[in-house]
Amino acid sequence: MAEAKIPKATAKRLPIYYRYLNILFNAGKQRVSSTELSEAVQVDSATIRRDFSYFGALGKRGYGYDVESLLNFFKKTLNQDRLTNVALIGVGNLGHALLNYNFRQTNSVRISAAFDINEEIANTIQSGVPVYPMAEMKEQLQIQQIDVAILTVPIDDAQKVADELVAAGVKGIMNFTPIRISVPATVRVQNVDLANELQTLIYFLDHYGSEAANQSTTD
Ligand code: ATP
Repeated sequence: MAEAKIPKATAKRLPIYYRYLNILFNAGKQRVSSTELSEAVQVDSATIRRDFSYFGALGKRGYGYDVESLLNFFKKTLNQDRLTNVALIGVGNLGHALLNYNFRQTNSVRISAAFDINEEIANTIQSGVPVYPMAEMKEQLQIQQIDVAILTVPIDDAQKVADELVAAGVKGIMNFTPIRISVPATVRVQNVDLANELQTLIYFLDHYGSEAANQSTTD
C-alpha cells in the first residue's frame, strides 16, 4: 500500500497529519472524523480524503478514522520515506523556538522527542512534541530509533549531556551551545553558534562596510 508513488504535496502533509494523530493518541482518543482532522491541521477535508485515498480506504463512513491504526500506518510510511526523527535536549528559549519551528518546510526531518531536566517541562507536550525526563532519554532514543540530537542545554551542562547522548548511541549532534564539545571520532558534531554568527556579521560591517555587504560571511 505504501509502495504506491504519492504526490509530493501529499507527502509533505504526512508529518502534519502524523504529528496531530500522535497528540490525539497520547490524549487517549480512539477515533477522529475528517472534519475534526481538517480543522486541527488546517487542510480542507476533501484534500485529506484525497490524500488518504492514495493509501487505500482507511476511513469508515460514520466512524471516521481509527487513530491508532492511522498512526501506525503513517509511522511506517514516514520511515519508508526516510524521515529522520531527531531529538532535542533542553527546552529553554532556544529549544522552544526550535520545537515550534520543527523544520516544517521539509518532510524528511522532524523533532519527534524532547528531553529536559526540569520536572515542570518533562511529561508535557510542547508545540506538539512530547518532552520526556532525562532519565528516559536513553530508552526513548532507542525505542524511537533516534540517532541525531539537537543540543540546547546551558553551556555548563553541554559536555555532560553530550556524553550521555554518545552513551545512548547518538551518531550526530547539532550543538547550539557556544562551547566545543568532545565526542568520539564516530560521532559527528555540527556547531551552530548564533551569537558568533551575528558578531561575525557585525564585524564585517564595521570593518569593511558596504564592501562586505554583498558577501556571505560563510563564503
Ligand atoms: P536558552 O539558552 O535556550 O535561551 P534558557 O535561558 O531559557 O535557554 P537555560 O538555562 O539555557 O535556559 O536552559 C535551557 C534548558 O535546558 C532549560 O529548559 C533547562 O531546564 C534545560 N537543562 C538544563 N540543564 C540540563 C541538563 N543537564 N539536561 C537536560 N536539560 C537541561
